[in-house]
Amino acid sequence: MADLILKPGKDRSLLRRHPWIFAGSVARTDGRLRPGDTVTVFDRDHRPLARAAWSPHSQIRARVWSFDPSQTIDHAFFKRAIAAAVRRRTEHPWLREQRGVRLVHGESDGLPGVIIDRYGDVVVVQLTSAGADKWRGAIVDAVVQATGCGNVFERSDSDLRALEGLQALSGVLAGDLPADLAIDEYGVRLAVDVAGGHKTGFYLDQRENRALARSLASGRRVLNCFCYTGGFSLQALAGGAAAVLSIDSSAPALDIARRNLALNPQLDAARAEWLDEDVFQALRRLRSDGRRFDMIILDPPKFAPSAAHAERAARAYKDINLQAFKLLEPGGLLMTYSCSGGIGIELFQKIVAAAAVDAGAEAYMLHRLAAAPDHPVGLAVPEGEYLKGLVCRVG
Ligand code: SAH
Repeated sequence: MADLILKPGKDRSLLRRHPWIFAGSVARTDGRLRPGDTVTVFDRDHRPLARAAWSPHSQIRARVWSFDPSQTIDHAFFKRAIAAAVRRRTEHPWLREQRGVRLVHGESDGLPGVIIDRYGDVVVVQLTSAGADKWRGAIVDAVVQATGCGNVFERSDSDLRALEGLQALSGVLAGDLPADLAIDEYGVRLAVDVAGGHKTGFYLDQRENRALARSLASGRRVLNCFCYTGGFSLQALAGGAAAVLSIDSSAPALDIARRNLALNPQLDAARAEWLDEDVFQALRRLRSDGRRFDMIILDPPKFAPSAAHAERAARAYKDINLQAFKLLEPGGLLMTYSCSGGIGIELFQKIVAAAAVDAGAEAYMLHRLAAAPDHPVGLAVPEGEYLKGLVCRVG
């Protein structure tokens, strides 16, 4: 067992239960260390503080598995931690019945670098840190045991792995991958492309926000920008939208979106239109075509992965929100999101407010939104609060 000794004063964030140890906080390590190995973390006076996973290639040099420095990190540890995370989902009334649910949300479930999503009879695992990668076998055994689901697929192809010196990996780990995998989300059937889709195949974090869109959509002409496989679009149709125009620049995503519509014969397909176009251009074109909408959803990709990208990202958010305000009828609703870790809710709200002013729209905020409760935020880890959204009403 190797030791990691912190520099003086660098124990503070750990004492507040923040699980990351940055390279600049490490005084030295004792013992032979390979990536992912468990270290006991000590302060400068050699008081033990935690057990953590060693990530020599990352700026986050170690990630805490346990704030109990006597905790053994072994198969039994992962069994307990994953069973507890799964239990937290089954205890939540909104999550209990879901067929698509995030079972483990990294740091927020005490398991840095471990993402586990369940889609029906398939569990998808994404391992993004050296520590998580090392314990792959234990993690897979634990999730199979906790869920009784024998089909496990790995989607460890996130960019984060490069920062850890890990290669991208993707494929079946146990059982197999059933063809035509689909989940039911509040009465709407949605196909999930586990092998090729974004993230682990689907954006589970927006589930409750899609349900909110459904409850607001009745009778409205809806524009859904960055629609991916049509989750918001189909919920809007289910909520009685008069028409839904959906835009995305990914042809494979739109193919699934069209298939999803066909999977839901209860919805009026004649009210749906799909556009393969760049949203920045489409918003301007729609305006010059004289189109108007009663509800606009903006759910763009991550424009600012970190604070360093915040300024450029802020301009992009401002631009699409400004164009959207210009397309809304009086009484129209704007549902606008940012999933950029580098942009906090306060800044996002300021950007949207500035967009409204520049568009000459008087807007009121009706809802402030976040990710669904299967994506909890550790109170000690505010970085986990990546998804934020606003529902604004104009005029
Ligand atoms: N709202 C979706 C998730 C959106 S993810 C849901 O609930 O499932 C963001 C989407 O934006 C992706 O599908 C991506 O293909 C698309 N995208 C990224 N940049 C784009 C651009 N400039 N124009 C149009 N679509 C874009």
